[in-house]
Amino acid sequence: MSRTVYVNGQYLPENEAKVSIFDRGFLMADGIYEVTSVLGGKLIDFDGHFVRLERSLNEIDMPSPISKEDLLAVHRKLIKCNDVDEGMIYLQITRGAPDDRDFVFPDPETTPQTIVLFTQSKPGLADSPAAKKGLKVISIEDMRWGRRDIKTVQLLYPSMGKMMAKKAGVDDAWMVQDGTVTEGTSNNAYIVKNGQIITRALSNDILHGITRSAVLRFAEEAQMEVVERNFTIEEAQQADEAFITSASMFVMPVVEIDQQSLGQGTPGPLATRLREIYLEESMLKAI
Ligand code: PMP
Repeated sequence: MSRTVYVNGQYLPENEAKVSIFDRGFLMADGIYEVTSVLGGKLIDFDGHFVRLERSLNEIDMPSPISKEDLLAVHRKLIKCNDVDEGMIYLQITRGAPDDRDFVFPDPETTPQTIVLFTQSKPGLADSPAAKKGLKVISIEDMRWGRRDIKTVQLLYPSMGKMMAKKAGVDDAWMVQDGTVTEGTSNNAYIVKNGQIITRALSNDILHGITRSAVLRFAEEAQMEVVERNFTIEEAQQADEAFITSASMFVMPVVEIDQQSLGQGTPGPLATRLREIYLEESMLKAI
């Protein structure tokens, strides 16, 4: 069945939606995006994603083309049109399509931004079998640009990282810069040692995950100890547990790093508990 998608104010069947070949998202990766999860037909942490969207736009000097209320209405309409119970909404805003290719930013008064949203239906997202098995990861060098805090559509290196993981027969890759782990290709990375949850502190080196922020808050509310600091792959391999967080994976245990099993090689109790808490709490607040 064809999806209904949103492009610049119009709701269209997916095969009728079009964007110009001069669009700067296409030519220069000059755009930002957000992915918001849907559970039970409701949006998880829409407010958090909207705040980060505004921040990303601001960091690349792009005006905001849509108000929060209107954007929420578009999300809701797409969920309804496409009958999404569990899945994701993808949103992308680019600097639009000027008349020709040029490195210089076009005037936003004459070149409106392009805004596109579509749904991805994923029945069983919350009850994922991977959460019971845990993920295996490899480490790779972090070769991305220096502003990873901005959620740009420049995802070539993360895609290459996923392909390196696939070739190695595992699920994902953790990226390493100057000897310490930055994050996963599309998620934030954590280890657990002696009951302490350890994750890299926020900076331009990593994306400020919306799930990260919620999970760390829930962890502290549940009296778990959180330490924000760098850690190495060797330290991670000696940890009791590891996990990742992202809007579409929630909290997902990691059971192997560079062919070394962690603990019993099965999802750890703390990651499993945090996943339950995250799903419960976020579904209560879903809108
Ligand atoms: N880091 C990177 C590089 C990501 O691509 C993502 C997912 N977009 C995350 C972390 C997790 O962020 P969030 O929890 O907001 O999905």
